[in-house]
Amino acid sequence: MSEHKGKAAVVTGGSRGIGKAIVLTLAAAGFNVAFSYASNQAAAEEVEKAAKTFGVEVLAVKADAADAEQAQALVEQAHKQFGRIDALVNNAGIAKDNLLMRMSNEDWDKVLDTNLSGAFYTSRAVARIMLKQRSGAIINLSSVVGVFGNAGQANYAASKAGLIGFTKSLAKELGSRSVTANVIAPGFIETDMTESVPKEKLLEHIPLGRLGEPEDIAKTVLFLITSGSYITGQVIHVDGGLVF
Ligand code: NAP
Repeated sequence: MSEHKGKAAVVTGGSRGIGKAIVLTLAAAGFNVAFSYASNQAAAEEVEKAAKTFGVEVLAVKADAADAEQAQALVEQAHKQFGRIDALVNNAGIAKDNLLMRMSNEDWDKVLDTNLSGAFYTSRAVARIMLKQRSGAIINLSSVVGVFGNAGQANYAASKAGLIGFTKSLAKELGSRSVTANVIAPGFIETDMTESVPKEKLLEHIPLGRLGEPEDIAKTVLFLITSGSYITGQVIHVDGGLVF
């Protein structure tokens, strides 16, 4: 029986891409997992079914990360079902790219609300539970773009940079109760989000010579949750050595 049997994780945006790999990796390691999705019910059901084959409990919840009440309800539902929450992975994220001069207020707000405020809502909800438990790991998915910036992605970069300051603050607030908070900053990972990114040119900047797989991120998440009890307030770059 897995040493993690009975432990529980909440993952936002688990129906596709990196989130899907995180859900399956945690389930394979023995975690009960609750994950959210925005609208793609068919994809969510497929992930739920695949994760359950590992013999763990799985909850797929339609919950908009940008909605404070839905985010809170996701955490509460998971806690009620599993009796504890050992890890929260704020993975749900969107991009709405445009040059600054053409960026609408709506696209600015939507990206900040989903990527940054969304992590705030779930973290606040889960902190209450983890502080009582005196253990837990919060992992926020930032991006190489949050560290270096990117033309045409001012909204996305601001949300991802914001996550870094947010997480470092959580590390300071929650550390005394053995709750860790870390950021993973992926480079370019093969998912729907990067489908239209021109790959050839990118590879010149990646020493490891390939784009990342969702599993590259999922394995790092698993490491932080299961072996990272003395790691907090850090930004872990998982980007093949990407240099701009
Ligand atoms: P993706 O393939 O576009 O998948 C996004 C996932 O998030 C889907 O499961 C989607 O649900 C869900 N989602 C989107 N908006 C949501 C909302 N408002 N509420 C709840 N769930 C929502 O994205 P990805 O490439 O896997 O990226 C995952 C995370 O890693 C994001 O935070 C992204 O910014 C970050 N990241 C990605 C890369 C990369 O190269 N791919 C690089 C750096 C950072 P539906 O299926 O229902 O739409």
